[in-house]
Amino acid sequence: MDTPPNKDFEVAIVGGGVSGLVCAIALQRAGVPVQLFEAAAAFGEIGAGIGLGSNAVRVLKAVGLLDEVLKKIHPSELRTRGFIYYNGLGDNQEVFAYDAHPEDKGIGMHRAIFLEALVPVLEPQRAHFNKRCTSIVRCAQGSRRLVINFQDGTSHETDVVIGADGIKSAVRSFVLDAPDDRVAFSNTVAYRGLVPYKDLQEAGFKTPVVQDPACFVGPSKHFILFPIKNGEVINVVAFVARYDIPIGSEKLPPGTPWVETVPKEAMEKEYEGWGPDIAALMKCMPETPSKWSIHVVHPPLDSFVKGHVALIGDAAHAMLPHLGAGAGQGLEDAYIISRLLGHPETQGDNLEAVLETYSRIRRPRAQMVWSMSRAAGAVYDWQGAGGSDAEFMREELRSHYDYVWQHDIEADVEHAISELRTKGAYVAHSV
Ligand SMILES: Cc1cc2nc3c(=O)[nH]c(=O)nc-3n(C[C@H](O)[C@H](O)[C@H](O)COP(=O)(O)OP(=O)(O)OC[C@H]3O[C@@H](n4cnc5c(N)ncnc54)[C@H](O)[C@@H]3O)c2cc1C
Repeated sequence: MDTPPNKDFEVAIVGGGVSGLVCAIALQRAGVPVQLFEAAAAFGEIGAGIGLGSNAVRVLKAVGLLDEVLKKIHPSELRTRGFIYYNGLGDNQEVFAYDAHPEDKGIGMHRAIFLEALVPVLEPQRAHFNKRCTSIVRCAQGSRRLVINFQDGTSHETDVVIGADGIKSAVRSFVLDAPDDRVAFSNTVAYRGLVPYKDLQEAGFKTPVVQDPACFVGPSKHFILFPIKNGEVINVVAFVARYDIPIGSEKLPPGTPWVETVPKEAMEKEYEGWGPDIAALMKCMPETPSKWSIHVVHPPLDSFVKGHVALIGDAAHAMLPHLGAGAGQGLEDAYIISRLLGHPETQGDNLEAVLETYSRIRRPRAQMVWSMSRAAGAVYDWQGAGGSDAEFMREELRSHYDYVWQHDIEADVEHAISELRTKGAYVAHSV
């Protein structure tokens, strides 16, 4: 239940993607005065699917949003989701099945549906649109207040800024205290499309993809297929990567957009010589799939926080999507920061310590998931130490998925509170 404000400070969130929105809702529910500023004219998501692992599902449950999401999807879409790996060059040739632990229940859904579930929960007067943040400055010397400047010439004064403004974050340069140099091309492109399952069947596609997600692996390339809309639609993401150069060593040619639509032939060319199911899938892809030149935050940030300004989600740690974990990490950030800001002992005079603790708890795990996501891509693409060996792939992926999905976020909250007590920022012995 939402509670009346009990704080002597205000929070402004910049960016209303999933991280910012969930954070705003969690703060609203904790009774923290919060406003959200979004650059676009309305909340919106791209036309694609999103997979949320059990760690993300636990956050939604803890924030009281899981029921809202479940109302929008078929109940069976919350389930244990293993992954079945196939040799992309073969003919329906299973490499191995990754059996998730029974308690690892995840969700696959359309991003727009996810947003539809979240948006009505945020009190409308808290959301401000067409507000593109251009800079953050401190008020007068000695004041803890901050000013957010927007492109339309307006500004907003607040005590805490949470930058949830995605990989192209405008808030990040404040945290870096320098011009932002942390966005790098990942040497990976992804082709994306949504395909009706019946079209796949008609095209002669044989691999079962309605129940469990499937991953077709092969040299330097792989395909992820997972069902949304109760299996009526299959979300397709096809990756092509280079491993011969380090991340960040190459930039896109000037003027090349990060996301563009391309003729289907460009995608087909990449997968020439792959097996019959991939050929069937190609027939069903939209004529102009979208091509994403995936960028990441790299090198990693030393801290997600500076003073009273904190980063969450892709603004802090945009990663390769190979474990389907990016949004989940944003949700974990949103949960921890909102639990700490909403804690009864957090007030204006200990905000800096509280935000530092947020960064200290969240940064190592988010960075580890960043690294594991990259490593998982290399495993799918037969670039890991064990190449295409099925047992090697299974073991590697199990350790990655277990790390991401089996996390105890309540232990993180306890750890953070105990650290704040040790530092003397929280003084009460019991709450
Ligand atoms: C191909 C691909 C597949 C993926 N699949 C998955 C998956 O299955 N599961 C998963 O968990 N993750 C997945 N991810 C990652 C996931 O999409 C991101 O981690 C997640 O969307 C990040 O959410 P966010 O709210 O932090 O940032 P964003 O979604 O980027 O939202 C940022 C928001 O801030 C706004 N904004 C930007 N700049 C400003 C500004 N200056 N002022 C005000 N507002 C601003 C934007 O308009 C936007 O609304 C995938 C990513 C890719 C590329």
